Amino acid sequence: MEDITASELAGFGVGTLLVCVTIAAPRIDAFISASQRSSLGMCKRCGNLKMIACTKCKGVGVVRGGPFGFNLDYELYQLLGSGGSKVQSTACTKCQARGHFSCPDCCKI
Ligand SMILES: [Zn+2]
Ligand SMILES: [Zn+2]
Repeated sequence: MEDITASELAGFGVGTLLVCVTIAAPRIDAFISASQRSSLGMCKRCGNLKMIACTKCKGVGVVRGGPFGFNLDYELYQLLGSGGSKVQSTACTKCQARGHFSCPDCCKI
């Protein structure tokens, strides 16, 4: 340990700190916005929108050419009244083609 000078040690420390800050910054930002929302009396999860966009279909309610369970999805899509369309898009089964979910935090049943 005697080979390492104080300045090298300081440089190492600063470098490590910078890496930590870079990695943690988005999380800190998310944490701050969440705490801001809660301090404003807003829902932490949805910001009082009372809904969360579906991650599978990106809030559209339709998934284009899903690789899994295509036939099942396609049948559901036709059931929903969009039969005959040549577009290979299927109703999102995750959100039942609604594109969003009720927020579980502020829409408790
Ligand atoms: Zn969806
Ligand atoms: Zn909510």
